[in-house]
Amino acid sequence: MEQELEKLNHEAVEALDNVCNHDQLEAFRIKYLGRNGQLNSAMRRLGSVGKQDRPRLGKLANTIKTSLEDAFVNKQHVILTTAASTDSTTPDLSMPGRRAAYGKLHPITQIMEEVCSIFANMGFSIAEGPDIELDYYNFEALNIPAHHPARDMHDTFYISDSVLLRTHTSPMQARVMEAQQPPLRLIAPGKVYRCDSDITHTPMFHQVEGFLVDTKVSFADLKGVLSVFTQKIFEKDIPLRFRPSFFPFTEPSAEVDIACVICGGDGCRVCKKTGWLEILGAGMIDPEVFKMVGYDPEIYSGFAFGLGVERIAMLKYGIDDIRLYYENDLRFLSQF
Ligand SMILES: [Zn+2]
Repeated sequence: MEQELEKLNHEAVEALDNVCNHDQLEAFRIKYLGRNGQLNSAMRRLGSVGKQDRPRLGKLANTIKTSLEDAFVNKQHVILTTAASTDSTTPDLSMPGRRAAYGKLHPITQIMEEVCSIFANMGFSIAEGPDIELDYYNFEALNIPAHHPARDMHDTFYISDSVLLRTHTSPMQARVMEAQQPPLRLIAPGKVYRCDSDITHTPMFHQVEGFLVDTKVSFADLKGVLSVFTQKIFEKDIPLRFRPSFFPFTEPSAEVDIACVICGGDGCRVCKKTGWLEILGAGMIDPEVFKMVGYDPEIYSGFAFGLGVERIAMLKYGIDDIRLYYENDLRFLSQF
């Protein structure tokens, strides 16, 4: 009988070891610890053993029963804990938290703000004008009368004969000069519109117009202001080049190039092997424009420049397709 009890205990311990889920645990309980289980039926048979062995065997049977019941409770605890951690409805407190998605400013907005702050630090104030503009301010007041060939370059969206979507931010020159007297030092950032779309053009883009009017303003002042600007926006000292050009509202006019920020001037695909990149147009304000707003060109002189914000952003970040800025692909935008 003693051997039988030891054997039963050994078997039960081994069986419990192999239990790994709730169903198996229940089967184990019924087989060994249940009312009609093997342990109880062995205990019932104790009644038939000799009187002198009964207390010793009874005690052994009780010890086995207690230790099996303890082991059973421990196993039950282990199985419940494991099940809880794999159950998808129960939160796993050891998992790393989910990060909230932060909104950010669009790269064009960031560059726009950077450009404005650089000029603000040089004493320029900021003025904004309407996107829907009169033909008069967009063209006439800037020395571009009707039928002037320069109008063809602008690919204008007309709303009516005299109203249009502004093709540049230069109308603010005329609007401000009409309303204020020199000295003036202003930038006008904003959206502009042209009927044009390819890898370097979008129908809507951003410009920053800047101008300064005072007595004795020279081309050297323009060059100084633009040198400081390019140095700050590209965060390094970059050689500038002024190429003669033509704009109806400036005389003389220049296209301004910077040494290629990609190859440093050695020549690459982006600069088309020239080593130079065009970044803006500029010039001395045409005396005709001063006459239109009632300034005396014998007393006042000034310079103006206009730069494309997308162009600066493309060069600064090395992006060769302007349309990426407007596709709203978060994989692209979140890099800035
Ligand atoms: Zn280059």
